[in-house]
Amino acid sequence: MLVTLREILEQAEQGNFAVGSFNSPTLESVRAVTEAAEELQSPIILSHAEVHNDIIPIEIIGPIFIQFAKQASVPVVVHLDHGSNLNIIKKAIDIGFTSVMIDASHMEYEDNIRIVQEVVDYAHKHNVSVEAELGMMTSSGIGGEETQGGEHHATQEAEDYYTDPLIAKDFVQKTEIDALAASFGTVHGIYVQEPNLDIKRLKAIYENIGRPVVMHGGSGLEIEDYVNVIQSGVRKINYYSYAAKAGAQAVKEYIQQNQNLFYHDYTVVAKQAIKEDVKRAMKIFMNNGY
Ligand SMILES: [Zn+2]
Repeated sequence: MLVTLREILEQAEQGNFAVGSFNSPTLESVRAVTEAAEELQSPIILSHAEVHNDIIPIEIIGPIFIQFAKQASVPVVVHLDHGSNLNIIKKAIDIGFTSVMIDASHMEYEDNIRIVQEVVDYAHKHNVSVEAELGMMTSSGIGGEETQGGEHHATQEAEDYYTDPLIAKDFVQKTEIDALAASFGTVHGIYVQEPNLDIKRLKAIYENIGRPVVMHGGSGLEIEDYVNVIQSGVRKINYYSYAAKAGAQAVKEYIQQNQNLFYHDYTVVAKQAIKEDVKRAMKIFMNNGY
């Protein structure tokens, strides 16, 4: 069933679990993620990153998401990831998305607030939930290129981009967003060094804002990291790079071991590998709470 982010995160708050948000830029990944969710009876967020319009445009994948969501036996949110402006937000809402992220985190603080307020005004009128970002998610530079313009690599101290808990409180009060993407040590893409999560900061953010925290760069962590962040207020985990990597790895091995292959064989192999990977993640995120 198709639900809003706000609805599913309320359940996650009550049950002390997190919901996986899976960017799905191919039909194989959409099928892998929804099948995994139905087999585990876990809620999910089907997510389209604006930068993945190069792989598949939102006009094509969006209606597919909606159809899968409506037919699913579990709650499914259809979400826009890292939307850069009001036009793409409006387009997503027209298609039927039930949740949008506006990412103006690279802008000056006052501009970030102003743009997020505009998006919240528009989205809430259409019963659509809003996620916004404060502080900045950096990228390892390998895969996971979800963000627009404000991409930063590890040239500066990562802590410079972390979310300030006091500013977060002000930001959420002024914008009335439904969930906050906060930066506290994860990065987008494949990890080139062990992530060092600032759990104390995360707890302070969660206590200050009084609503769910979103963790980006959420694939490739240790199980204890997931348990810790869920205990500390993370309710939505963006999970993509390592599932995509699992699909590619399975196809590589399949090519090495088999001959006279057809393209459709690769899609079957990739789908199965992505499904196994996201199932493993979903089991951890559910935390026995759902
Ligand atoms: Zn992200």
